[in-house]
Amino acid sequence: LVRMSGVNKHFGSFQALSDINVDIPKGQVCIVVGPSGSGKSTLCRTINRLETIDDDGGYIEIDGKRLPEEGKALAALRADVGMVFQSFNLFAHKSVLENVTLGPTKVRGLSKKQAEKEAMEYLERVGVGEQARKLPAQLSGGQQQRVAIARALAMKPKVLLFDEPTSALDPEMVQEVLDVMVDLAAGGMTMVVVTHEMGFARKAGDRLLFMSEGAVIEDTTPEKFFKDPETSRAKDFLSKIL
Ligand code: ATP
Ligand code: MG
Repeated sequence: LVRMSGVNKHFGSFQALSDINVDIPKGQVCIVVGPSGSGKSTLCRTINRLETIDDDGGYIEIDGKRLPEEGKALAALRADVGMVFQSFNLFAHKSVLENVTLGPTKVRGLSKKQAEKEAMEYLERVGVGEQARKLPAQLSGGQQQRVAIARALAMKPKVLLFDEPTSALDPEMVQEVLDVMVDLAAGGMTMVVVTHEMGFARKAGDRLLFMSEGAVIEDTTPEKFFKDPETSRAKDFLSKIL
């Protein structure tokens, strides 16, 4: 569903991604780990084209379609690729419900009524239906992040990207967000998840990519990675986070 082939990304002379070759089939939950600065966020951002990649023959395909450069095709592609950030990125001056209906009315062309009906279903599903009329600031961090997940789901994406979705949360709120993500995974959603939550990786992850200096240097399963990492860099990384 998501294919990255020979993908490089430079910021000036600095190479942030180095020859990434990853094929993520439909329904796979792919965990991405690695030290700070190893390129995890950049990887996510190139998949939904928040960042361009180097024009050197490398490419990214979503469901068989090459990542387009701009315009309408890009908007359609963005709708296929949902993203949940560390910092929620909700619109502060819009209600929870409006945050979730905005994309579907603008991009999917739904009527306000239909968008609200669907939004309520997604909000219920992530357990924040009762907060629909509030502003984001009136919610806890865990609730806000669940709204962000509902907002992403409302676009009916083919793949969902999560970039450290729980690392800005108070510890007691981490689990409620992870529980929603485990449900999505169990429901067959294709997911790319940057996280150091080992419990989640083991429980929901089908595959694990370990990144170092912009390259994927281990492409394995969570079980294997945590038990028996191959590279000295991975061993060193695990000794710091476990
Ligand atoms: P962290 O765990 O700290 O979030 P990361 O693995 O997500 O790290 P990235 O944010 O992908 O790392 O950054 C990879 C490298 O690319 C870093 O060295 C970073 O400084 C650099 N980088 C990222 N974005 C830019 C940018 N817009 N301009 C220049 N350099 C950038
Ligand atoms: Mg990052």
